[in-house]
Amino acid sequence: MEIVILLGAPGSGKGTVCSRVAEIAGYRHLSTGDRLRAAIKTGTAVGREAKPYIERGDLVPDEVMIRIVAEAMTAETPDRRRFILDGFPRTEEQARLLQQFLRDQGGSLRAVILLEAPRDVLIARLAGRRVCRDCGATYHVVNIPPKREGRCDACGGDLVQRPDDNEATVRNRLDVYERQTASLIAYYEREVGLQPVDSARPLDVMVSEIRDLILADAS
Ligand code: ADP
Ligand code: ZN
Repeated sequence: MEIVILLGAPGSGKGTVCSRVAEIAGYRHLSTGDRLRAAIKTGTAVGREAKPYIERGDLVPDEVMIRIVAEAMTAETPDRRRFILDGFPRTEEQARLLQQFLRDQGGSLRAVILLEAPRDVLIARLAGRRVCRDCGATYHVVNIPPKREGRCDACGGDLVQRPDDNEATVRNRLDVYERQTASLIAYYEREVGLQPVDSARPLDVMVSEIRDLILADAS
């Protein structure tokens, strides 16, 4: 098992970057936000537990999160257990639980990458974000517009705003990120070293920089 962690604030472009990097570097993209939204949609026990936290922009409890991640990883056959983690860990406790899990599985942490962007850029990105109701593809009204307004390029589905992308919830999510993540960043700087990437640049540039970081780190 091999893991790459991508850290970054809501709106840093984590999800889009992760899915592109995963594709070209041969990793599986594991997004805890996507997993949680899917669990809410299908009404599982985890989904019911997580829903009120997500609606407020707060964090879902750590023990729920490690369970989701561990289940998702071990569901893959061993030869496919190369993951780029998007949205996890988000607290120092989650990072410790993940280290423990990796030790138990004999897995390794290949790189920790931090997408950096100023707060005003983050707010603009989140406010303009639209997602496909059917396939989950992500767009932005200005930065990544669909070919036809309000329609998904990939599947023709309706583009909608995520309920937690409203302004009040966005501000809370950024505050929560700043509160929780300072210690998470310090933890990884201390434990393994962190690779900062400037996320105010074009997507293609970031994606190839991150791919190079991951592949160069191979050992
Ligand atoms: P964003 O990065 O834009 O906040 P995500 O899709 O990663 O969006 O997460 C959406 C919400 O799901 C978070 O605000 C939080 O409530 C919940 N969530 C996702 N990952 C975690 C995690 N690792 N720990 C706790 N809560 C999480
Ligand atoms: Zn779609």
